[in-house]
Amino acid sequence: MNKFALSVENLTKIYSNNKTKKQNKALNELSFGVKQGEVFGLLGPNGAGKTTFLNILAGTVVKTGGKVNVWGFDLDKNPRQVRASIGIVPQEVNLDAFFSPQQLLELQAGLYGVTKKDRITNLILKIVSLEEKANAYSRNLSGGMKRRLLIAKAMVHQPPILILDEPTAGVDVELRNNLWENVKKLNKEGVTIILTTHYLIEAQEMCDRIAILDKGNLVALDTTERLLQRIKTKKINFKVKNLDLGKKYSMQDINIKINSKNSISVTYEKNLLNFGEIINFLKQNNIEIEDIFTEDGDLEDVFVQLTKH
Ligand code: ADP
Repeated sequence: MNKFALSVENLTKIYSNNKTKKQNKALNELSFGVKQGEVFGLLGPNGAGKTTFLNILAGTVVKTGGKVNVWGFDLDKNPRQVRASIGIVPQEVNLDAFFSPQQLLELQAGLYGVTKKDRITNLILKIVSLEEKANAYSRNLSGGMKRRLLIAKAMVHQPPILILDEPTAGVDVELRNNLWENVKKLNKEGVTIILTTHYLIEAQEMCDRIAILDKGNLVALDTTERLLQRIKTKKINFKVKNLDLGKKYSMQDINIKINSKNSISVTYEKNLLNFGEIINFLKQNNIEIEDIFTEDGDLEDVFVQLTKH
């Protein structure tokens, strides 16, 4: 077993339209690896190639070139083992309303050829906190329970890798947190998690590492922490007293904006100045500080920087 749960090498997908003869390169020589046991985020704007990537793994899209290795299995040589090593949680909730969670999981296990004695239906229900609803009609489950049931469905064959495709699109905050707690629980038990999401805050909170795709190219791959460190500017808002609206305040390397007679914002590049110098500047100008609010950039800033066209 290699140290990667999943890796791709020069993975390329070109969609060809037979009629118009137009070619569309959805994935361009993509190479990266997802480490065993990590929560890995796959982010990118619309059209970046995320769905294409997931569909290649799921076997519904055939790659044009490159290598895909999942849990030690080569997609070209062992497609079935590749499929058996991943569980994909779809975006859409598509559950048969008249089955209970218990029945749905048993059916799914049957589809995957899991023999009765190897099934862990009750354990899975417990992991996604649905054991009390095991025998309820699926149509009577709440939205959050349905999402968790989708995760459970993807787990019946006990894949070491779980892929969540936009799992919380259109899901309210409370429910989202609950879903993430369950995903974290699975991750703690050793399941490698790959997730695509539009919610950058979510990726920032959840992922150990993040890959950002743009137009089929890998534009960033780093730990979430290091990606955030790439944000160079910092903004601080001060609530102040004694601001002289007639005076022009200026200091090298910072951008000072007076918002009102008791509010001032400064923006500066982290590597050019430090916080102390800014405080000194305000003191020297007899500005009394009452309160401070800092706005550290977030992943959104990095994302916009990397994918702006
Ligand atoms: P994402 O999921 O990141 O939005 P997609 O994988 O859906 O990206 O799309 C990547 C690119 O491939 C886009 O330019 C899209 O138009 C194109 N594409 C996706 N599916 C097809 C298809 N079946 N036929 C032709 N082009 C496609």
